Amino acid sequence: MRKLIVVSGGVISGLGKGVVAASIALLFKLSGYTVSLQKIDPYVNVDAGTMNPYEHGEVFVTHDGKETDLDIGRYERFLDEYLSADNYITTGKVYWNVIRQERAGSFLGQTVQVIPHVTNEIKRLINIPIDGRNAEIGVVEVGGTVGDIESLPFLEALRQLKDDLPRQDTFFIHLTLLPHLASTDEIKTKPTQHSVKELRAIGIQPDAIVARCARPLSESVKRKIALFCDVKEENVIEDPDLQTIYDVPLLFADQGVDKLIARGLGLKERAVQIDKWRQLVSVLHSPRRKVRIAIVGKYVELTDSYISIKEALVHAGMHLGTQVEISWVSAEDVMSKGEANLLPGVDGLLVPGGFGDRGIEGKVEAIRYARETGIPFFGICLGLQCAAIEFARDVLGLARANSSEFDPSTPDPVIDIMREQTSVTDKGGTMRLGAYEAVLKEGTISRECYEVERVKERHRHRYEFNPEYRERFEEAGMRVAATSPDGRLTEILELSGHPWFVGVQFHPEFRSHFLSPHPLFTGFVKACLENGSSSSPS
Ligand code: GLN
Repeated sequence: MRKLIVVSGGVISGLGKGVVAASIALLFKLSGYTVSLQKIDPYVNVDAGTMNPYEHGEVFVTHDGKETDLDIGRYERFLDEYLSADNYITTGKVYWNVIRQERAGSFLGQTVQVIPHVTNEIKRLINIPIDGRNAEIGVVEVGGTVGDIESLPFLEALRQLKDDLPRQDTFFIHLTLLPHLASTDEIKTKPTQHSVKELRAIGIQPDAIVARCARPLSESVKRKIALFCDVKEENVIEDPDLQTIYDVPLLFADQGVDKLIARGLGLKERAVQIDKWRQLVSVLHSPRRKVRIAIVGKYVELTDSYISIKEALVHAGMHLGTQVEISWVSAEDVMSKGEANLLPGVDGLLVPGGFGDRGIEGKVEAIRYARETGIPFFGICLGLQCAAIEFARDVLGLARANSSEFDPSTPDPVIDIMREQTSVTDKGGTMRLGAYEAVLKEGTISRECYEVERVKERHRHRYEFNPEYRERFEEAGMRVAATSPDGRLTEILELSGHPWFVGVQFHPEFRSHFLSPHPLFTGFVKACLENGSSSSPS
Protein backbone atom coordinates (compact mmCIF):
# COMPACT_ATOMS: atom_id res chain seq x y z
CA MET A 1 0.00 0.00 0.00
CA ARG A 2 1.27 3.46 -0.82
CA LYS A 3 -0.88 6.52 -0.71
CA LEU A 4 0.09 9.98 -1.86
CA ILE A 5 -1.05 13.27 -0.33
CA VAL A 6 -0.13 16.37 -2.32
CA VAL A 7 -0.13 19.85 -0.79
CA SER A 8 -0.16 22.75 -3.24
CA GLY A 9 -0.61 26.44 -2.58
CA GLY A 10 -2.53 29.26 -4.19
CA VAL A 11 -3.22 33.01 -4.09
CA ILE A 12 0.05 34.06 -2.44
CA SER A 13 3.23 32.44 -1.18
CA GLY A 14 4.18 32.23 2.47
CA LEU A 15 0.90 30.76 3.72
CA GLY A 16 2.60 27.97 5.62
CA LYS A 17 2.36 25.01 3.25
CA GLY A 18 5.32 23.48 5.09
CA VAL A 19 3.46 23.58 8.40
CA VAL A 20 0.31 22.17 6.79
CA ALA A 21 2.24 19.32 5.10
CA ALA A 22 4.21 18.56 8.27
CA SER A 23 1.07 18.63 10.45
CA ILE A 24 -0.78 16.21 8.17
CA ALA A 25 2.20 13.85 8.00
CA LEU A 26 2.48 14.02 11.79
CA LEU A 27 -1.19 13.08 12.29
CA PHE A 28 -0.70 9.98 10.12
CA LYS A 29 2.54 9.11 11.89
CA LEU A 30 0.74 9.42 15.23
CA SER A 31 -1.94 7.11 13.84
CA GLY A 32 0.69 4.42 13.37
CA TYR A 33 1.45 4.78 9.63
CA THR A 34 4.92 5.07 8.19
CA VAL A 35 5.12 8.43 6.44
CA SER A 36 7.54 10.26 4.22
CA LEU A 37 7.58 13.98 3.56
CA GLN A 38 9.05 15.49 0.42
CA LYS A 39 9.47 19.10 -0.59
CA ILE A 40 9.52 20.16 -4.20
CA ASP A 41 11.31 23.46 -4.72
CA PRO A 42 10.71 24.56 -8.32
CA TYR A 43 13.92 26.66 -8.47
CA VAL A 44 16.56 25.82 -11.06
CA ASN A 45 19.17 25.68 -8.28
CA VAL A 46 20.34 22.10 -7.77
CA ASP A 47 20.01 22.62 -4.00
CA ALA A 48 19.44 25.50 -1.59
CA GLY A 49 23.12 25.88 -0.72
CA THR A 50 23.74 28.75 -3.10
CA MET A 51 20.55 30.69 -2.35
CA ASN A 52 20.51 33.93 -0.43
CA PRO A 53 19.17 33.63 3.15
CA TYR A 54 17.65 37.09 2.68
CA GLU A 55 15.26 35.71 0.07
CA HIS A 56 14.85 32.09 1.10
CA GLY A 57 15.66 31.94 4.78
CA GLU A 58 17.99 29.46 6.32
CA VAL A 59 19.78 26.71 4.42
CA PHE A 60 18.94 23.53 6.32
CA VAL A 61 21.53 20.74 6.26
CA THR A 62 20.43 17.12 6.48
CA HIS A 63 22.36 14.36 8.26
CA ASP A 64 23.58 13.06 4.90
CA GLY A 65 24.91 16.49 3.98
CA LYS A 66 22.30 17.92 1.62
CA GLU A 67 21.77 21.68 1.68
CA THR A 68 18.00 22.07 1.62
CA ASP A 69 15.18 24.49 2.12
CA LEU A 70 14.00 25.42 5.60
CA ASP A 71 10.84 23.35 5.19
CA ILE A 72 12.91 20.18 5.48
CA GLY A 73 13.95 21.47 8.91
CA ARG A 74 10.33 22.03 9.78
CA TYR A 75 9.47 18.46 8.74
CA GLU A 76 12.24 17.08 10.94
CA ARG A 77 11.13 19.18 13.90
CA PHE A 78 7.54 17.99 13.56
CA LEU A 79 8.20 14.33 12.77
CA ASP A 80 11.11 13.93 15.19
CA GLU A 81 13.02 12.13 12.42
CA TYR A 82 16.07 12.76 10.28
CA LEU A 83 15.30 13.24 6.60
CA SER A 84 17.72 12.91 3.71
CA ALA A 85 18.65 14.25 0.28
CA ASP A 86 15.81 12.15 -1.19
CA ASN A 87 13.25 14.26 0.65
CA TYR A 88 14.23 17.35 -1.32
CA ILE A 89 13.55 17.80 -5.04
CA THR A 90 14.39 20.87 -7.12
CA THR A 91 14.09 21.65 -10.82
CA GLY A 92 17.90 21.76 -10.91
CA LYS A 93 18.17 18.25 -9.49
CA VAL A 94 15.57 16.88 -11.91
CA TYR A 95 17.21 18.42 -14.99
CA TRP A 96 20.68 17.46 -13.79
CA ASN A 97 19.57 13.81 -13.68
CA VAL A 98 17.81 13.99 -17.05
CA ILE A 99 20.75 15.67 -18.76
CA ARG A 100 23.19 13.15 -17.29
CA GLN A 101 21.04 10.30 -18.63
CA GLU A 102 20.85 11.98 -22.03
CA ARG A 103 24.65 12.34 -22.17
CA ALA A 104 25.06 8.72 -21.12
CA GLY A 105 22.95 7.73 -24.09
CA SER A 106 19.93 6.46 -22.16
CA PHE A 107 17.56 8.18 -24.58
CA LEU A 108 19.46 7.47 -27.82
CA GLY A 109 17.43 8.39 -30.87
CA GLN A 110 14.74 10.16 -28.84
CA THR A 111 13.85 13.82 -28.59
CA VAL A 112 14.23 14.56 -24.88
CA GLN A 113 11.22 16.58 -23.72
CA VAL A 114 9.59 17.99 -20.60
CA ILE A 115 6.80 15.47 -21.13
CA PRO A 116 7.59 12.58 -20.71
CA HIS A 117 11.29 12.67 -19.81
CA VAL A 118 11.32 15.41 -17.20
CA THR A 119 7.95 14.38 -15.76
CA ASN A 120 9.09 10.73 -15.61
CA GLU A 121 12.16 11.77 -13.64
CA ILE A 122 9.95 13.76 -11.25
CA LYS A 123 7.70 10.72 -10.77
CA ARG A 124 10.74 8.55 -10.14
CA LEU A 125 12.02 10.96 -7.48
CA ILE A 126 8.60 11.09 -5.80
CA ASN A 127 8.38 7.30 -5.77
CA ILE A 128 11.92 6.70 -4.59
CA PRO A 129 12.10 4.53 -1.45
CA ILE A 130 13.37 6.89 1.22
CA ASP A 131 15.90 5.43 3.63
CA GLY A 132 15.46 2.16 1.83
CA ARG A 133 11.76 1.93 2.62
CA ASN A 134 8.56 2.88 0.92
CA ALA A 135 6.43 4.70 3.44
CA GLU A 136 2.75 3.79 3.58
CA ILE A 137 1.86 7.44 3.15
CA GLY A 138 3.90 9.93 1.15
CA VAL A 139 3.19 13.62 1.64
CA VAL A 140 4.54 15.88 -1.10
CA GLU A 141 4.61 19.65 -0.77
CA VAL A 142 4.81 21.59 -4.02
CA GLY A 143 6.64 24.86 -3.35
CA GLY A 144 5.59 28.11 -4.98
CA THR A 145 2.11 29.18 -5.98
CA VAL A 146 -0.12 27.47 -8.53
CA GLY A 147 0.14 29.51 -11.71
CA ASP A 148 3.93 29.89 -11.51
CA ILE A 149 5.64 28.75 -14.69
CA GLU A 150 8.33 26.89 -12.72
CA SER A 151 5.96 24.54 -10.94
CA LEU A 152 4.14 23.39 -14.09
CA PRO A 153 6.24 20.25 -14.81
CA PHE A 154 5.83 19.15 -11.19
CA LEU A 155 2.06 19.62 -11.20
CA GLU A 156 1.88 17.83 -14.55
CA ALA A 157 3.89 14.91 -13.11
CA LEU A 158 1.55 14.78 -10.12
CA ARG A 159 -1.45 14.88 -12.43
CA GLN A 160 -0.01 11.90 -14.29
CA LEU A 161 0.65 10.06 -11.03
CA LYS A 162 -2.99 10.59 -10.09
CA ASP A 163 -3.97 8.80 -13.30
CA ASP A 164 -1.24 6.15 -13.02
CA LEU A 165 -2.44 5.16 -9.55
CA PRO A 166 -5.83 3.78 -8.48
CA ARG A 167 -8.32 6.58 -7.80
CA GLN A 168 -8.19 6.21 -4.03
CA ASP A 169 -4.41 6.38 -3.80
CA THR A 170 -3.99 10.13 -4.18
CA PHE A 171 -5.43 13.05 -2.26
CA PHE A 172 -4.87 16.65 -3.34
CA ILE A 173 -4.98 19.46 -0.79
CA HIS A 174 -4.87 23.07 -1.91
CA LEU A 175 -3.91 25.77 0.58
CA THR A 176 -5.25 29.24 -0.15
CA LEU A 177 -5.71 32.61 1.47
CA LEU A 178 -9.10 34.07 2.36
CA PRO A 179 -8.59 37.80 2.66
CA HIS A 180 -10.65 39.79 5.13
CA LEU A 181 -12.06 43.09 3.90
CA ALA A 182 -12.11 45.42 6.88
CA SER A 183 -14.46 48.01 5.32
CA THR A 184 -17.31 45.50 4.97
CA ASP A 185 -16.03 43.03 7.56
CA GLU A 186 -16.21 40.25 5.00
CA ILE A 187 -14.12 37.17 4.24
CA LYS A 188 -13.61 36.95 0.47
CA THR A 189 -13.51 33.60 -1.35
CA LYS A 190 -12.91 34.82 -4.92
CA PRO A 191 -9.09 34.48 -4.91
CA THR A 192 -9.55 30.86 -3.73
CA GLN A 193 -12.04 30.19 -6.52
CA HIS A 194 -9.60 31.58 -9.10
CA SER A 195 -6.71 29.60 -7.72
CA VAL A 196 -8.70 26.36 -7.86
CA LYS A 197 -9.68 27.22 -11.42
CA GLU A 198 -5.99 27.54 -12.23
CA LEU A 199 -5.30 24.14 -10.69
CA ARG A 200 -8.16 22.56 -12.62
CA ALA A 201 -6.77 23.98 -15.87
CA ILE A 202 -3.69 21.85 -15.15
CA GLY A 203 -5.94 18.82 -14.70
CA ILE A 204 -5.99 18.65 -10.93
CA GLN A 205 -9.21 18.86 -8.95
CA PRO A 206 -8.43 19.38 -5.25
CA ASP A 207 -10.02 16.97 -2.78
CA ALA A 208 -9.74 19.43 0.10
CA ILE A 209 -9.15 23.13 0.59
CA VAL A 210 -7.19 24.44 3.55
CA ALA A 211 -8.28 28.02 4.02
CA ARG A 212 -5.80 30.34 5.66
CA CYS A 213 -7.65 33.17 7.31
CA ALA A 214 -7.27 35.59 10.18
CA ARG A 215 -10.30 34.20 12.00
CA PRO A 216 -12.42 31.02 12.10
CA LEU A 217 -14.68 30.47 9.08
CA SER A 218 -18.46 30.71 9.24
CA GLU A 219 -20.51 27.80 7.92
CA SER A 220 -21.74 29.94 5.04
CA VAL A 221 -18.18 30.73 3.88
CA LYS A 222 -17.32 27.03 4.06
CA ARG A 223 -20.44 26.19 2.04
CA LYS A 224 -19.55 28.75 -0.57
CA ILE A 225 -15.99 27.43 -0.97
CA ALA A 226 -17.32 23.88 -1.20
CA LEU A 227 -19.81 24.83 -3.88
CA PHE A 228 -17.52 26.97 -6.03
CA CYS A 229 -14.47 24.76 -5.70
CA ASP A 230 -16.34 21.47 -6.01
CA VAL A 231 -15.14 19.89 -2.79
CA LYS A 232 -17.19 18.33 -0.02
CA GLU A 233 -18.16 20.82 2.65
CA GLU A 234 -16.47 18.68 5.31
CA ASN A 235 -13.29 18.91 3.23
CA VAL A 236 -13.00 22.67 3.70
CA ILE A 237 -10.47 22.95 6.50
CA GLU A 238 -9.90 26.16 8.38
CA ASP A 239 -6.42 27.32 9.20
CA PRO A 240 -6.67 30.54 11.24
CA ASP A 241 -3.71 32.36 12.78
CA LEU A 242 -2.67 30.49 15.92
CA GLN A 243 -0.36 31.21 18.81
CA THR A 244 2.36 28.87 17.55
CA ILE A 245 2.97 26.58 14.58
CA TYR A 246 2.86 23.60 16.96
CA ASP A 247 -0.86 24.31 17.52
CA VAL A 248 -1.63 23.46 13.89
CA PRO A 249 -1.55 19.62 14.26
CA LEU A 250 -3.93 19.97 17.23
CA LEU A 251 -6.32 22.19 15.30
CA PHE A 252 -6.25 19.73 12.40
CA ALA A 253 -6.81 16.76 14.71
CA ASP A 254 -9.74 18.58 16.31
CA GLN A 255 -11.23 19.21 12.85
CA GLY A 256 -10.76 15.53 11.97
CA VAL A 257 -8.46 16.33 9.06
CA ASP A 258 -6.73 12.93 9.29
CA LYS A 259 -10.14 11.23 9.19
CA LEU A 260 -11.38 13.08 6.13
CA ILE A 261 -8.12 12.37 4.29
CA ALA A 262 -8.24 8.71 5.39
CA ARG A 263 -11.78 8.45 4.00
CA GLY A 264 -10.66 9.98 0.72
CA LEU A 265 -7.80 7.51 0.52
CA GLY A 266 -9.98 4.54 1.39
CA LEU A 267 -8.11 3.94 4.65
CA LYS A 268 -9.69 2.78 7.86
CA GLU A 269 -9.96 5.52 10.47
CA ARG A 270 -7.46 5.20 13.29
CA ALA A 271 -7.09 7.06 16.58
CA VAL A 272 -4.33 9.69 16.62
CA GLN A 273 -2.03 9.40 19.64
CA ILE A 274 -1.67 13.14 20.08
CA ASP A 275 -1.84 13.50 23.89
CA LYS A 276 1.89 14.02 24.40
CA TRP A 277 1.98 16.69 21.70
CA ARG A 278 -1.07 18.39 23.23
CA GLN A 279 0.49 18.36 26.66
CA LEU A 280 3.73 19.93 25.38
CA VAL A 281 1.82 22.63 23.53
CA SER A 282 0.00 23.50 26.74
CA VAL A 283 3.39 23.85 28.49
CA LEU A 284 4.46 26.11 25.62
CA HIS A 285 1.39 28.27 26.21
CA SER A 286 1.89 28.63 29.96
CA PRO A 287 5.57 28.99 30.80
CA ARG A 288 6.52 29.60 34.42
CA ARG A 289 9.60 31.68 33.73
CA LYS A 290 11.18 33.78 31.06
CA VAL A 291 14.72 34.37 29.83
CA ARG A 292 15.99 36.92 27.35
CA ILE A 293 18.60 35.78 24.90
CA ALA A 294 20.34 38.08 22.45
CA ILE A 295 21.16 36.71 19.01
CA VAL A 296 23.79 38.85 17.35
CA GLY A 297 23.66 38.12 13.64
CA LYS A 298 23.86 39.52 10.17
CA TYR A 299 20.32 38.94 8.93
CA VAL A 300 18.32 39.88 12.02
CA GLU A 301 15.65 41.76 10.05
CA LEU A 302 14.61 38.44 8.55
CA THR A 303 14.62 35.94 11.32
CA ASP A 304 13.80 33.02 8.99
CA SER A 305 17.53 33.07 8.29
CA TYR A 306 17.99 31.62 11.78
CA ILE A 307 14.76 29.64 12.01
CA SER A 308 16.31 26.40 13.33
CA ILE A 309 18.08 28.30 16.10
CA LYS A 310 14.90 30.14 17.01
CA GLU A 311 12.97 26.87 17.16
CA ALA A 312 15.74 25.05 19.06
CA LEU A 313 15.50 27.76 21.74
CA VAL A 314 11.71 27.35 21.84
CA HIS A 315 12.06 23.56 22.26
CA ALA A 316 14.69 23.85 25.00
CA GLY A 317 12.70 26.58 26.78
CA MET A 318 9.51 24.57 26.61
CA HIS A 319 11.13 21.52 28.16
CA LEU A 320 12.31 23.78 31.00
CA GLY A 321 8.91 25.47 31.35
CA THR A 322 10.51 28.70 30.18
CA GLN A 323 9.59 31.27 27.59
CA VAL A 324 12.64 32.31 25.61
CA GLU A 325 12.37 35.89 24.45
CA ILE A 326 14.83 36.56 21.67
CA SER A 327 16.36 39.95 21.31
CA TRP A 328 17.62 40.23 17.72
CA VAL A 329 20.68 42.41 17.53
CA SER A 330 22.31 43.41 14.27
CA ALA A 331 26.04 42.76 14.43
CA GLU A 332 26.66 46.05 12.67
CA ASP A 333 24.65 47.92 15.31
CA VAL A 334 26.96 46.53 17.98
CA MET A 335 29.75 48.53 16.38
CA SER A 336 27.77 51.73 15.86
CA LYS A 337 25.72 51.73 19.09
CA GLY A 338 28.02 49.75 21.38
CA GLU A 339 27.46 46.42 23.11
CA ALA A 340 26.96 48.17 26.45
CA ASN A 341 23.81 49.76 25.00
CA LEU A 342 22.46 46.67 23.29
CA LEU A 343 23.21 43.77 25.56
CA PRO A 344 22.52 44.73 29.22
CA GLY A 345 19.57 42.90 30.68
CA VAL A 346 19.98 39.88 28.45
CA ASP A 347 20.49 36.55 30.18
CA GLY A 348 22.58 35.01 27.45
CA LEU A 349 24.22 35.64 24.10
CA LEU A 350 24.11 33.45 21.02
CA VAL A 351 26.18 34.11 17.91
CA PRO A 352 24.98 32.02 14.97
CA GLY A 353 26.69 30.82 11.80
CA GLY A 354 27.38 32.95 8.77
CA PHE A 355 29.60 33.81 5.84
CA GLY A 356 31.48 36.92 4.76
CA ASP A 357 33.06 39.66 6.82
CA ARG A 358 30.05 41.96 7.29
CA GLY A 359 29.29 42.31 10.99
CA ILE A 360 32.24 40.24 12.19
CA GLU A 361 33.72 42.99 14.37
CA GLY A 362 30.35 43.51 16.09
CA LYS A 363 30.09 39.80 16.86
CA VAL A 364 33.63 39.83 18.27
CA GLU A 365 32.74 42.82 20.49
CA ALA A 366 29.55 41.16 21.73
CA ILE A 367 31.49 38.00 22.61
CA ARG A 368 34.06 40.02 24.53
CA TYR A 369 31.17 41.48 26.54
CA ALA A 370 29.86 37.97 27.34
CA ARG A 371 33.32 36.69 28.23
CA GLU A 372 34.05 39.61 30.54
CA THR A 373 30.65 39.91 32.20
CA GLY A 374 30.12 36.16 32.61
CA ILE A 375 26.80 35.92 30.78
CA PRO A 376 26.29 32.53 29.11
CA PHE A 377 27.59 32.42 25.55
CA PHE A 378 26.76 29.93 22.82
CA GLY A 379 28.70 30.26 19.56
CA ILE A 380 27.63 28.26 16.58
CA CYS A 381 30.01 27.67 13.66
CA LEU A 382 30.95 31.26 12.77
CA GLY A 383 30.07 32.03 16.42
CA LEU A 384 32.83 29.68 17.59
CA GLN A 385 35.20 31.19 15.04
CA CYS A 386 34.48 34.73 16.29
CA ALA A 387 35.02 33.58 19.88
CA ALA A 388 38.45 32.26 18.88
CA ILE A 389 39.31 35.56 17.16
CA GLU A 390 38.19 37.55 20.19
CA PHE A 391 40.17 35.36 22.61
CA ALA A 392 43.30 35.53 20.47
CA ARG A 393 43.13 39.31 20.27
CA ASP A 394 42.14 40.18 23.79
CA VAL A 395 43.60 37.40 25.93
CA LEU A 396 46.59 36.22 23.89
CA GLY A 397 47.42 39.75 22.74
CA LEU A 398 47.47 38.84 19.03
CA ALA A 399 45.97 42.16 17.96
CA ARG A 400 45.49 41.29 14.28
CA ALA A 401 44.27 37.75 14.78
CA ASN A 402 41.51 36.88 12.36
CA SER A 403 40.05 34.21 10.13
CA SER A 404 41.75 33.94 6.76
CA GLU A 405 38.21 34.10 5.35
CA PHE A 406 38.01 37.76 6.39
CA ASP A 407 41.65 38.83 6.29
CA PRO A 408 43.76 36.61 4.03
CA SER A 409 46.94 38.43 5.11
CA THR A 410 46.40 38.21 8.88
CA PRO A 411 49.64 37.34 10.73
CA ASP A 412 47.58 35.13 13.09
CA PRO A 413 45.01 33.04 11.22
CA VAL A 414 43.49 31.43 14.30
CA ILE A 415 40.72 30.33 11.95
CA ASP A 416 42.01 28.97 8.68
CA ILE A 417 40.79 27.19 5.59
CA MET A 418 40.47 23.42 6.09
CA ARG A 419 43.15 21.37 4.37
CA GLU A 420 40.56 19.50 2.27
CA GLN A 421 39.08 22.82 1.11
CA THR A 422 42.19 24.47 -0.32
CA SER A 423 41.76 23.03 -3.81
CA VAL A 424 37.97 23.45 -3.97
CA THR A 425 36.78 26.02 -6.53
CA ASP A 426 33.11 25.13 -7.14
CA LYS A 427 30.68 26.68 -4.69
CA GLY A 428 27.72 24.26 -4.83
CA GLY A 429 27.69 21.44 -2.29
CA THR A 430 31.44 21.58 -1.68
CA MET A 431 31.72 22.63 1.96
CA ARG A 432 32.29 20.18 4.80
CA LEU A 433 28.65 19.12 4.93
CA GLY A 434 26.50 16.80 6.99
CA ALA A 435 27.02 14.69 10.08
CA TYR A 436 30.48 13.90 11.41
CA GLU A 437 31.40 12.29 14.68
CA ALA A 438 32.90 14.28 17.56
CA VAL A 439 34.55 12.88 20.68
CA LEU A 440 33.83 14.83 23.87
CA LYS A 441 36.38 15.26 26.64
CA GLU A 442 35.59 14.35 30.24
CA GLY A 443 34.88 17.21 32.62
CA THR A 444 33.55 19.61 30.01
CA ILE A 445 30.21 21.41 29.94
CA SER A 446 29.39 19.78 26.61
CA ARG A 447 30.07 16.29 27.91
CA GLU A 448 27.82 17.01 30.87
CA CYS A 449 25.03 18.21 28.57
CA TYR A 450 25.24 15.31 26.11
CA GLU A 451 25.86 12.66 28.78
CA VAL A 452 27.69 10.54 26.17
CA GLU A 453 31.23 10.50 24.82
CA ARG A 454 30.55 10.44 21.09
CA VAL A 455 28.01 12.46 19.14
CA LYS A 456 27.21 13.02 15.48
CA GLU A 457 26.52 16.60 14.51
CA ARG A 458 25.92 18.37 11.21
CA HIS A 459 28.43 20.70 9.63
CA ARG A 460 28.49 23.38 6.96
CA HIS A 461 31.79 25.20 6.78
CA ARG A 462 35.09 25.65 4.94
CA TYR A 463 37.18 27.13 7.76
CA GLU A 464 38.22 25.66 11.10
CA PHE A 465 40.11 26.43 14.30
CA ASN A 466 43.81 26.42 13.41
CA PRO A 467 45.49 23.56 15.35
CA GLU A 468 48.74 25.53 15.53
CA TYR A 469 47.12 27.75 18.16
CA ARG A 470 45.59 24.94 20.20
CA GLU A 471 48.27 24.82 22.87
CA ARG A 472 48.34 28.57 23.43
CA PHE A 473 44.57 28.69 23.68
CA GLU A 474 44.44 25.82 26.15
CA GLU A 475 47.18 27.30 28.34
CA ALA A 476 45.24 30.56 28.55
CA GLY A 477 41.97 28.80 29.50
CA MET A 478 40.18 28.20 26.17
CA ARG A 479 39.86 24.44 26.12
CA VAL A 480 39.32 22.14 23.16
CA ALA A 481 36.33 20.21 24.54
CA ALA A 482 35.72 17.97 21.54
CA THR A 483 37.56 16.92 18.42
CA SER A 484 37.02 14.71 15.40
CA PRO A 485 37.77 11.04 16.27
CA ASP A 486 41.31 11.37 14.84
CA GLY A 487 41.90 14.36 17.14
CA ARG A 488 42.69 16.62 14.18
CA LEU A 489 39.70 18.96 13.97
CA THR A 490 38.42 21.11 16.81
CA GLU A 491 34.70 20.62 17.21
CA ILE A 492 34.06 22.49 20.49
CA LEU A 493 35.86 25.24 22.39
CA GLU A 494 34.98 26.03 26.01
CA LEU A 495 36.26 28.78 28.28
CA SER A 496 37.30 27.65 31.75
CA GLY A 497 36.28 29.78 34.71
CA HIS A 498 33.21 31.15 32.92
CA PRO A 499 29.71 29.97 33.90
CA TRP A 500 28.80 28.76 30.38
CA PHE A 501 30.93 29.65 27.36
CA VAL A 502 30.66 27.07 24.57
CA GLY A 503 31.50 27.41 20.89
CA VAL A 504 30.72 24.59 18.47
CA GLN A 505 31.96 24.17 14.91
CA PHE A 506 28.79 22.29 13.95
CA HIS A 507 25.10 23.20 13.86
CA PRO A 508 23.30 21.58 16.80
CA GLU A 509 20.13 23.54 15.96
CA PHE A 510 19.49 21.19 13.01
CA ARG A 511 18.92 18.27 15.38
CA SER A 512 16.50 19.93 17.79
CA HIS A 513 12.93 18.65 17.51
CA PHE A 514 9.70 19.64 19.22
CA LEU A 515 9.57 16.30 21.05
CA SER A 516 13.31 16.05 21.67
CA PRO A 517 15.20 19.28 22.31
CA HIS A 518 18.95 19.42 21.77
CA PRO A 519 21.03 18.88 24.93
CA LEU A 520 23.34 21.83 24.25
CA PHE A 521 20.41 24.19 23.77
CA THR A 522 18.81 22.87 26.95
CA GLY A 523 22.11 23.37 28.77
CA PHE A 524 22.44 26.89 27.42
CA VAL A 525 18.89 27.98 28.32
CA LYS A 526 19.34 26.44 31.78
CA ALA A 527 22.54 28.42 32.24
CA CYS A 528 20.72 31.57 31.12
CA LEU A 529 18.02 30.86 33.72
CA GLU A 530 20.66 30.40 36.40
CA ASN A 531 22.32 33.60 35.27
CA GLY A 532 19.73 35.21 37.43
CA SER A 533 17.74 37.96 35.87
CA SER A 534 14.97 35.61 34.68
CA SER A 535 11.52 37.04 35.14
CA SER A 536 7.88 36.06 34.87
CA PRO A 537 6.60 35.39 31.38
CA SER A 538 4.79 38.17 29.60
N1 GLN B 1 32.11 31.09 7.18
C1 GLN B 1 32.57 30.09 8.08
C2 GLN B 1 33.17 28.89 7.38
O1 GLN B 1 32.95 28.68 6.22
C3 GLN B 1 31.45 29.66 9.03
C4 GLN B 1 30.37 28.90 8.35
C5 GLN B 1 29.11 28.79 9.17
O2 GLN B 1 28.92 29.51 10.14
N2 GLN B 1 28.22 27.92 8.77
O3 GLN B 1 33.86 28.12 8.00
